[in-house]
Amino acid sequence: MNIIVCLKQVPDTDEVKTDPETGRIIREGIAGTINPFDMFVLEEALRLKEKYGGKITLLSMGPKDAINTLHFGLALGADEAYLLSDIKFAGSDTLATSYALSCGIKTLGYYDLIICGIKTTDGDTGQVGANLAEILDIPSVYYVNKILKYQNTNIEVERLLEDRSQILQVSLPCLISIVKGANIPRMPTLIGKVEAERKPLKILNASEVNAIEDHCGLEGSPTRVVEVFLPDKRKQGVILKGCFDQNIIKLVQFLKNKKMVSF
Ligand SMILES: Cc1cc2nc3c(=O)[nH]c(=O)nc-3n(C[C@H](O)[C@H](O)[C@H](O)COP(=O)(O)OP(=O)(O)OC[C@H]3O[C@@H](n4cnc5c(N)ncnc54)[C@H](O)[C@@H]3O)c2cc1C
Repeated sequence: MNIIVCLKQVPDTDEVKTDPETGRIIREGIAGTINPFDMFVLEEALRLKEKYGGKITLLSMGPKDAINTLHFGLALGADEAYLLSDIKFAGSDTLATSYALSCGIKTLGYYDLIICGIKTTDGDTGQVGANLAEILDIPSVYYVNKILKYQNTNIEVERLLEDRSQILQVSLPCLISIVKGANIPRMPTLIGKVEAERKPLKILNASEVNAIEDHCGLEGSPTRVVEVFLPDKRKQGVILKGCFDQNIIKLVQFLKNKKMVSF
């Protein structure tokens, strides 16, 4: 089974800053880490490989230091990795990102399954997987919780919905996105880290994946960031002190004024 795993490197901080002029996240000088949601993707791919054999190829688009995230995936047990990195990809929105990834996948050639995370901790749109499947013209299933069976031409998956789950059979090649908590991700061993050094990791630029220039980067991105702002800080609440019964009356009156209760 040939599995392509899409991994994104995200800023390793809770305090993401944006450029006030462009509205873009300032990534320079900030250490990166693997998107935590992609840990579940990797684990699922590793389990599939252990059960059915095959090869796991990691694919990422990002700055050169995203090789650290790919190294991490190789140390966990993936077989090879490709990083799409080129100034021509800078400023890509989700569509241009998906386009670049699709070019990378077409260049890699044959695959059975592409696995993505459900979302990222920085962009957080959850659009890349579905965009990618559309561009590649393959079926996609989001919110996959379990991969139940692989049978050469299709896979059977359990997909989580709000109040129930569905069992779906999907023909291959297809794309699935794995939900958070689908498994318990493993961590790399020392041997894994040493072996990762010897595994193939290649950086590819836009022309090496035959990406059409005006489909890439800012030029290929229909999204325009109009404004970026932080939500207002929550005001401190009112602390009611003193008589309990009177405080209940005050609280009920407050909720009535806010039209949160009516009696
Ligand atoms: C106008 C504009 C300009 C931007 N400029 C830049 C920029 O210069 N540099 C920059 O880094 N970001 C830039 N971004 C953000 C960039 O578009 C998103 O980071 C990217 O599209 C992924 O979206 P997301 O984080 O919402 O991924 P989601 O759709 O939430 O991710 C879902 C899954 O898709 C896969 N995935 C997502 N992104 C990648 C990736 N890059 N490589 C491999 N797999 C991936 C992962 O499996 C992930 O779990 C820009 C956005 C806009 C709107």
